[in-house]
Amino acid sequence: MSLIQKIEHIGIAVRDLEAANTLYEKLLGVAPYKQEAVASESVITSFFRTGDQKIELLASTDAQGPIGKFIAKRGEGIHHIAFEVADIQAELKRLEAEGFQLIHTKPKKGADNKWVAFIHPKSTNGVLVELCQEMN
Ligand code: ZN
Repeated sequence: MSLIQKIEHIGIAVRDLEAANTLYEKLLGVAPYKQEAVASESVITSFFRTGDQKIELLASTDAQGPIGKFIAKRGEGIHHIAFEVADIQAELKRLEAEGFQLIHTKPKKGADNKWVAFIHPKSTNGVLVELCQEMN
């Protein structure tokens, strides 16, 4: 049984959301379908559909927020990979039992109508992993 259903989206940290929107619209040949602020993470997100998966651009509204810090430390680039799961609570329990380091032990409200929780990159070979589940 596969507990991970698919890669739901790839998150990319950008400095200037308007400039990145223009660039990714050119790159992908499709306009962003949604722009949404997530106040708790101090980000504005922008979403593009690329077939079954999405690209999420993330721009910080606060230099001290997670994306602001990420860009200061590592520059723009791939920030996280998000996997869609059917039962995020069960997956968090399973992964914690497997020894993964959870950033969130409980799902929180993310962008694009999703419950989200992150796994620390220290326990995933340097990749920040997001689990997400569609809110009903
Ligand atoms: Zn994401």
